[in-house]
Amino acid sequence: MLELKNVHTSYGRIQALKGISIQVFPGEIVAMIGANGAGKSTTLMATSGVLPIDSGEIFYKGRAIHGTPPEKLPPMGLCQVPEGRRIFPRLTVDENLALGAFYRRDRTEIEADFETVYGLFPILKDRRRQHGGTLSGGEQQMLAIGRALMSRPQVLLLDEPSLGLAPLIVQKIFDIINDINTTRGTTILLVEQNANLALQTARRGYVLETGRIIMEDRADALMHNPEIRKAYLGE
Ligand code: ATP
Repeated sequence: MLELKNVHTSYGRIQALKGISIQVFPGEIVAMIGANGAGKSTTLMATSGVLPIDSGEIFYKGRAIHGTPPEKLPPMGLCQVPEGRRIFPRLTVDENLALGAFYRRDRTEIEADFETVYGLFPILKDRRRQHGGTLSGGEQQMLAIGRALMSRPQVLLLDEPSLGLAPLIVQKIFDIINDINTTRGTTILLVEQNANLALQTARRGYVLETGRIIMEDRADALMHNPEIRKAYLGE
């Protein structure tokens, strides 16, 4: 579904990605773990076209997408939920969700998707006329995921969905992430600081360190790897 080949990216003179290669197969949840500043968010931003790459290649369903303007990717089925949610605080919940379907013209199906998203997140339905900025952190994360679902993604890039949220809410959000993957078959590339949570959720994982991949394996193997346990799982 998705492949990054030897991707390099920089912020001015800071080289953030130094040759990242990742493969994500249809229907998988793949996690990227690593310390602060390892390059996880940068990898997602490069994939979604928000950040230009210096060299390397990015393929989505076999088609090269590096250099494609970011707004062209959701209509193709590739959608990012950015770190820190980035919902529109002065727009209502309804309006935020509608923006996720900005390019679609199939009104009846859009209406059906509103109901699906409100079915997944009933709290958002209760708050549908409320401004996004007045929602709690967890509700904003739900709204950001809901907005992405309104584009009917085939691949979802999720950046730190647990960031700043209480454990109970995090669990709820991860249950829904799993549900989206199993019931819709949506492929997910997940970035998480919380390596435990990420590896419990994912099938495979990549470990990033200072812009490079230092290890890749099945998630359960990474979880049992003593080096990973020591460095990332708090042992
Ligand atoms: P975190 O979980 O803290 O977001 P991360 O693994 O997602 O970590 P990135 O945010 O991708 O890491 O950062 C990778 C590197 O790029 C870091 O060295 C960071 O300081 C640098 N960087 C990120 N954003 C910028 C920016 N806008 N300008 C300059 N350097 C940046």
